[in-house]
Amino acid sequence: MPMNVINVDNLTFCYNGLEAISNISFTVKRGDYLGVAGPNGSGKSTLIKNILGILKPQKGNINIFGQPLIFFHQWDRIGYLPQRISSLNNHFPGTVEEIVQLGMKKRNAIALKRTLEMMGIAHLANRLIGELSYGEQQRTILARALISQPDLLIFDEPTTALDPETREIFYSLTSEMNRTYDTTIILVTHDTGIIGKYARNLLYLDKKVIFYGTFEDFCTSPDMAGFFGSTSQHMICHQHDKTENNV
Ligand code: ADP
Ligand code: MG
Repeated sequence: MPMNVINVDNLTFCYNGLEAISNISFTVKRGDYLGVAGPNGSGKSTLIKNILGILKPQKGNINIFGQPLIFFHQWDRIGYLPQRISSLNNHFPGTVEEIVQLGMKKRNAIALKRTLEMMGIAHLANRLIGELSYGEQQRTILARALISQPDLLIFDEPTTALDPETREIFYSLTSEMNRTYDTTIILVTHDTGIIGKYARNLLYLDKKVIFYGTFEDFCTSPDMAGFFGSTSQHMICHQHDKTENNV
């Protein structure tokens, strides 16, 4: 039976009585790479926090891996990288290796070695996190999110927190996991230039759903040309075309 990874049905969430997101519905299937875009304050992070149970949905329903959110407990199937990782405590007395292992249920030396190498931090395994550069700390946090090869990865504006070199590693890794392991990916960003390059589906929010569908549909939609102006529409679609040709 094909199972949806995420089902959001008519979700509404208010802060202090003010709607931040309104009547959101969409579905994410196994192996999808969904881009969630929209201007600042359009409710992207609010949506993600509802999906992750950090905020409680006030109206509507969310199902994860076929289960209603309130019954879902397999959180180790989901890797999450929040918008800000600067909250990392520099005095935390953990080594790179120890922190990355927090992302694993059981110790697995091979997976640990492979992930540290993939992220280019193997040589830092025994160093304390507080002694590292910001970029090296970012890679450690990324490695923690990726190490257990979760079925679903959710990234909220990762590129605002990542330095350019780590950003490159990040995007190629997520694409590779999506292709190789069928890992489902939700990438939130306000950078619509980059989103079309990697994601296959697009959810464009502005409190409510402005567009939800494939990039192909987005790019040929007269409604979207009207909404964004054809220049912006082309900018998003240009990136997408380039990737298709390169594969
Ligand atoms: P985005 O991630 O798209 O930038 P957010 O989901 O963070 O948008 O915010 C959506 C709206 O909700 C914004 O108007 C924001 O000011 C408001 N908001 C977000 N978090 C809170 C909060 N904790 N309390 C009150 N309002 C909030
Ligand atoms: Mg946000």
